[in-house]
Amino acid sequence: MTAAIHDLMDFDEVLEKFDPVMGLEVHVELATETKMFSTSSAHFGAEPNSNVDPVSLGLPGALPVVNAKGVEWAIKIGLALNCQIAESSRFARKNYFYPDQPKGYQISQYDEPIAYDGWLDVVLDDGTEWRVEIERAHMEEDTGKLTHLGGVAGRIHGATASLVDCNRAGVPLIEIVTKPILGAGARAPEIARAYVTALRELVKAIGVSDARMDQGSMRVDSNVSLRPIGQEEFGVRTETKNINSLKSVEQAVRYEMMRQAAAIENGEEIVQETRHYQELDGSTRKGRPKESAEDYRYFNDPDLPPVLAPREWVEEIRATLPELPWVRRARLQEEWGISEAEMRDLVNAGALELILATVDAGTTADEARAWWVNYLSAAAREQDIELEALAITPEQVAEVVGLVKEGKLTTKLARQAVDGVLAGEGTVSEVIAARGLEVVRDDGAIEAAVDEALAANPDIVEKYRAGNTKVTGAIVGAVMKATRGKADPALVNKLIAEKLK
Ligand code: ADP
Ligand code: MG
Repeated sequence: MTAAIHDLMDFDEVLEKFDPVMGLEVHVELATETKMFSTSSAHFGAEPNSNVDPVSLGLPGALPVVNAKGVEWAIKIGLALNCQIAESSRFARKNYFYPDQPKGYQISQYDEPIAYDGWLDVVLDDGTEWRVEIERAHMEEDTGKLTHLGGVAGRIHGATASLVDCNRAGVPLIEIVTKPILGAGARAPEIARAYVTALRELVKAIGVSDARMDQGSMRVDSNVSLRPIGQEEFGVRTETKNINSLKSVEQAVRYEMMRQAAAIENGEEIVQETRHYQELDGSTRKGRPKESAEDYRYFNDPDLPPVLAPREWVEEIRATLPELPWVRRARLQEEWGISEAEMRDLVNAGALELILATVDAGTTADEARAWWVNYLSAAAREQDIELEALAITPEQVAEVVGLVKEGKLTTKLARQAVDGVLAGEGTVSEVIAARGLEVVRDDGAIEAAVDEALAANPDIVEKYRAGNTKVTGAIVGAVMKATRGKADPALVNKLIAEKLK
């Protein structure tokens, strides 16, 4: 099968003719100890089929029991998203066959979700806020996982066998669905990315999920449709799945806008279907025609009682919510005395948590910021990786800062020490020892270098004695050169001043 290359309309032209409508469905896997309806471990990464039990294997007669923590965390997410929390909600069976779902149905919530009618304000690249309205956040269980053998890149196409792993079956999931996002125009792709970014930050901050898109603990489906400018009625939407990075969320929306516009212009009919995002070229490929709700034959699960959320409990949970990320950001921005743009850059660079961890390890905020925002961000860009993926820890950065403060490293030597750690040469002290980076403390050697530099630069000495005390830079430079940058600059300056008195 060759890659489906579609006709695309230029993005600006799309916006002259069409108004995009967008809806995002985000699945968040909860980091509970155990599964949503049974006591098997819900942790990621175990031997296949080792975290299973009669309920998650769907054995006949096995009865689900609701994980209270799962309900509590669903409420926590709902509250953080400014939702109403239902006093009573229900689990329903969503019936569909899939080999990694042995029961033949998924336990989900349908017409009675636990949380509904909320909103999340997200900040766009230029600093403006956009309110994304939340339709509902409901509880459900994850399915197992299939591994296809013999096909290309683990795909089912061309595979000779498929393996089922039920470890993930029954892991608690919260599905968060937005209301249709209207009037976004050219910003639709950006809003999609900003929303998922904010949501990811939120669930991590309230401690309910690690929200790793690369490991599937956060999954995004983007629904997009176009309507001619001025038309009330929504167009037909497609739902793009398999999006596994923030960048891809933006690209998937953008691509669908350009593809659908070209298709409509060519007189093709847009059909409601799922599409699969192609990481390789940023396109989307046709999936299956979309089932409508009726196809799932939803009905209340007779094995599970209604979920009750008494108001006192909801208030208790509300009281456990930590300072939310944007509130904390505003506070830190004020405390650190930086601008909104500086804070935004630092957050976008993924530096905030790293800076805070470095401060926790003993530096000032300014010192931590200087390293992560400048030197280390440049190093990450050079390696083309995320800042947090750099091979240095906040503790190590704090250690280097401490050595500079103690006068054991100059800034220049500190950078070399960091370079060594980043290059995998060992711990900070190992790199300093191996590269011989310690500042020269041997006063005799430094004094000799100072004498030599003064003797070699009589003109500077003369200017200095004539009252121009700012000319010592060249002397310091010469001493640094002679000591290969390892002389303590404070000591060098002191010696020069003494000798020229
Ligand atoms: P499904 O179960 O079919 O995935 P959901 O109700 O869970 O449907 O989610 C549909 C998402 O698509 C919601 O975010 C909704 O706001 C959005 N949506 C609905 N209609 C349209 C449309 N015509 N164009 C774009 N998005 C839409
Ligand atoms: Mg859905």
